[in-house]
Amino acid sequence: MVDRFGRTIEYLRLSITDKCNLRCRYCMPKDGVTPVSHDDILRYEEITRLAGIFAHLGIRKIRITGGEPLVRKGVCDLIGRLKSVNGVENVSLTTNGVLLRELAQDLKAAGTDGINISLDTVNEETFRKLTGFDGLPQVMEGLKTAFDRGMRLKINCVPVWGINEGDLCDIALFAKDRPVDVRFIELMPIGEGRGFTGISSNEVLYLLEERFGKSWTLSDRGSGPARMRSFAGFAGRIGFISPISQSFCSSCNRLRLTSTGFLKTCLYYAEGYDLKGALRGGASDEELARLITGAVKEKPAGHRFGEKKDAFEEKRMYQIGG
Ligand code: SAM
Ligand code: SF4
Repeated sequence: MVDRFGRTIEYLRLSITDKCNLRCRYCMPKDGVTPVSHDDILRYEEITRLAGIFAHLGIRKIRITGGEPLVRKGVCDLIGRLKSVNGVENVSLTTNGVLLRELAQDLKAAGTDGINISLDTVNEETFRKLTGFDGLPQVMEGLKTAFDRGMRLKINCVPVWGINEGDLCDIALFAKDRPVDVRFIELMPIGEGRGFTGISSNEVLYLLEERFGKSWTLSDRGSGPARMRSFAGFAGRIGFISPISQSFCSSCNRLRLTSTGFLKTCLYYAEGYDLKGALRGGASDEELARLITGAVKEKPAGHRFGEKKDAFEEKRMYQIGG
């Protein structure tokens, strides 16, 4: 699918739950969340059918996200099913890592092509303050298990003033002895994120260079919008994803499907398309395909964070999938 701005759309971020076993302060409200009823969540059969239609329309890469995708039972089976959908070339996962140690082997057996682990701190106290749980040792074990199993891993960190500015160099150190990418992602003013101040990519780079010396740009951008850099003596790479300070909307290739079957063409806007309603209302594959291609035609040019003009998305990140 090519949208009206000439962007080829081939990447689907697929949220399979809005439940999570952590409560990251910039993502989930601290006074709890209203759980979505089980019936409102797309079943795996429905997801697989939609994946077939998306793939027929040109989606080649699917990333499973949430909430925390590993808390939904049968996630490895789903990955296996998606891997066998004609046209889907890559199925990956974004996780907080808490359940990774238990599931790493099954994820590998299911054919998972890559795992992004969200890790904002390596300090147990900061982890507890940020997420509400004492889960850091579990995450570290999960990371090690997945690495030892030879899985393709990336570490994603959202730098936030007042939360993890003192941890960023230690997070970067994961790329020192291992050939993994560590990526710093700018906080977006969505949901709870609006109550915090993100640390910009340039500010993170400054902090890293103070500790590790000058870095240099790598011509390979890595997958997606990350700008990759290298530091002397590092086996892995350091990436910067800068939706706020250096928007990459002009090359955006993605769609998002929430766990309730709501199709979003841009993270910023509240608008979307009720695929679940159409699917459960008896729509044929052709009708669903028309709905999706119609949505892609309307994909906005880009987000408007920073302009504070229109009422943008009220959903939280855990409801959208990041
Ligand atoms: N629970 C999984 C995890 O944490 O990796 C998957 C879902 S989570 C919503 C996906 C990613 O979104 C995480 O890396 C998280 O740090 C990031 N995220 C959450 N809120 C954000 C915000 N306001 N701006 C930027 N990234 C955000
Ligand atoms: Fe859960 Fe991920 Fe949101 Fe943290 S960022 S609360 S782990 S969904």
